[in-house]
Amino acid sequence: MISIGIDIGGTFIKFMAIDAQGKVLKRTAIVTDTTLSAQAFVKQLAAIVKEWQKEFKKEKFVIGMGVAGDTDNTKGILHFAPNIPWHNFNIVDMLKKETGFPCWACNDANMAAWGIYDYEFKRKYKNLMVITLGTGVGGGLIIEGKLYQGFSGSAGEFGHIKVDYSKTAPKCGCGHKGCLEAYIGTKGLKRQMLKAAKKAPKSVLAKLLKSEEFSIKLLSDAASKKDKNALAIWRNFGHYLALALSDTVLLFNPEAIVLAGGVSKGYKYFMPAIEEVFSKQVIKRPFKDIKVLISKQKDIGAFGSALYALSQQNER
Ligand SMILES: [Zn+2]
Repeated sequence: MISIGIDIGGTFIKFMAIDAQGKVLKRTAIVTDTTLSAQAFVKQLAAIVKEWQKEFKKEKFVIGMGVAGDTDNTKGILHFAPNIPWHNFNIVDMLKKETGFPCWACNDANMAAWGIYDYEFKRKYKNLMVITLGTGVGGGLIIEGKLYQGFSGSAGEFGHIKVDYSKTAPKCGCGHKGCLEAYIGTKGLKRQMLKAAKKAPKSVLAKLLKSEEFSIKLLSDAASKKDKNALAIWRNFGHYLALALSDTVLLFNPEAIVLAGGVSKGYKYFMPAIEEVFSKQVIKRPFKDIKVLISKQKDIGAFGSALYALSQQNER
C-alpha cells in the first residue's frame, strides 16, 4: 500500500508518497496556478499521481488531500478557501474519477495536526492544538486522542479569529477585517515589512527587501542583525498569535501547542511575546504547564494527509 499526501496551499501544492510504515518514498512540489479551472487543477494533481503510479505498478494507492480552506471531510466538498480560487465543488469525487483511487480531503491544518500527533510526537499529547503558520494560518485539534473536525468539518479556522476590532484593522484574504491571518499570515507580514521599509529606507530590513526576493527568512535575517522594525514585527506576530491562542487555551485546555509551517522558523523572535501574554492570564492553571513546541517534521501538511488516508483506509 502506498499513500499519497497532497497539501494544497495558496502558494504551493506539495506531494508526498509514503509506505504503510510512514517511510517517505517520493516528494515534489508545484506552484499553485490560481488561473486554472477547478477541473484543470484536479487534472494537474492526477497527472503527478499517475506518473508516480508507473514506478509502483503492483501497489495499491490511497490519496489524502489537505486543503487550505473549509473542507467537508465526510462529503469531500471544498466549500471555501481564502487563498485559493476553487470553491463549492467535490474535490474528492473529481480526483477519484481521474485516478480511480480511494481519496479523502480535510482542512490542511487538521491533516497537519493528525501527522504531528500520530507520527512526530507518537501520540504522546492526547489533547493537542496544532497551528500552521504560512500564507494562511490554520488550526487543528486533537481531543482525547482523536482528530476533532467539528459537525461539518469546519473546525480549526484559527486564522480567522478576530484580533483587531478597530476601524483601521487590515483586510484578510477571507474578506473580513482584523483576522489573525491579516497580521501573521505571510501576506500580512509582507505588508508590515514594506511599510516599515518605506518609513526607514536605510534600515537593514529595507536594504534586504531591495536586494533579495521577498521571503520570511529575510525578516529573520533582519532581526538577527538587530533591525528594530524586524524585531517589532516579530514581537507583534507573537502578541497577536498569543491573543488568539489564549482564547482557545481557555476553551480547550490542551496539554501542548505545536506550531508548524515555514513561518514557525522565526520562533526565537516571537516566542517571548507569547510567553508574556500567557504569563498575564488571570486563570493561570491552563497556561502554567502548557508546552509550546515547534514541529520539526518537513512538509507536515502533505505527510499528515498521507497518514490520514492510511488511517481511513485501515478503518474500512
Ligand atoms: Zn479572515
